[in-house]
Amino acid sequence: MLMAESLTLIDTHAHLDSSDYNADRAAVIARAFTASIGVITVGVDLPSSEAAVTLAKRHRFIWAGVGVHPHEAKTFDGKGRKGLEELTKNEKVVAIGEIGLDYYRDLSPRKAQRHAFREQLTLARRVKLPVIIHNRESTNDLLGILNDLSSPYRGVIHSFLGDASLAKEFLALGFHLGIGGPVTFKQNETLREAVNEIPLERILVETDSPYLTPLPHRGKRNEPAYVRYVAETVARIKEIPVGEVEKQTTKNAIDLFSL
Ligand SMILES: [Zn+2]
Repeated sequence: MLMAESLTLIDTHAHLDSSDYNADRAAVIARAFTASIGVITVGVDLPSSEAAVTLAKRHRFIWAGVGVHPHEAKTFDGKGRKGLEELTKNEKVVAIGEIGLDYYRDLSPRKAQRHAFREQLTLARRVKLPVIIHNRESTNDLLGILNDLSSPYRGVIHSFLGDASLAKEFLALGFHLGIGGPVTFKQNETLREAVNEIPLERILVETDSPYLTPLPHRGKRNEPAYVRYVAETVARIKEIPVGEVEKQTTKNAIDLFSL
């Protein structure tokens, strides 16, 4: 049987259930598999978490994260938490996520965001799954909550966009850092400096498809096959062969998510 170890890369953060793929989802998935790329597809609320699990059950090299995104935190309640916990019984569910805080768009009240985040961190601990964390302009409160509950953590700070010193804080808490399309953007020199400092053993590559499309496709819809542009950029920053980035980040994803 083919194992996850046979994959070239694993896109550790995509939203394959997004309606952006309704017209050609099978072709998008086929392009990833043809390139030997596995995918963790991540839910943002209960229905999309269910959709993620359905996709994961259908494809050997797709796994699912289940969680309520900070944008949807106002929908998080006892029923939602039970629903998520029920989903974690499926063996293709490998993480609680996408969870976290987003004070940039503020689509849910901040108090509701903090509540949903804490509750889901606790759920992850109870069901012994790593977490996939979203953080946008909310670093102080995020670190406050993480430091309040007990470290070390198992999980990833997805789409990390900070500098080297913030990277060190997350590494010290036990997290991996998810590097995505923005690392290819010209203006993100500080992020590239951070990537140079982060040990390759703690880096995951991701796309956040259909969002955050890397160069040279920036401006168009993203898809998991484009994770190779992220891996190539990480290799260039660290001045190592791309094969080394592929091998190590795939191992990192397999180990962290027990794929
Ligand atoms: Zn996402």
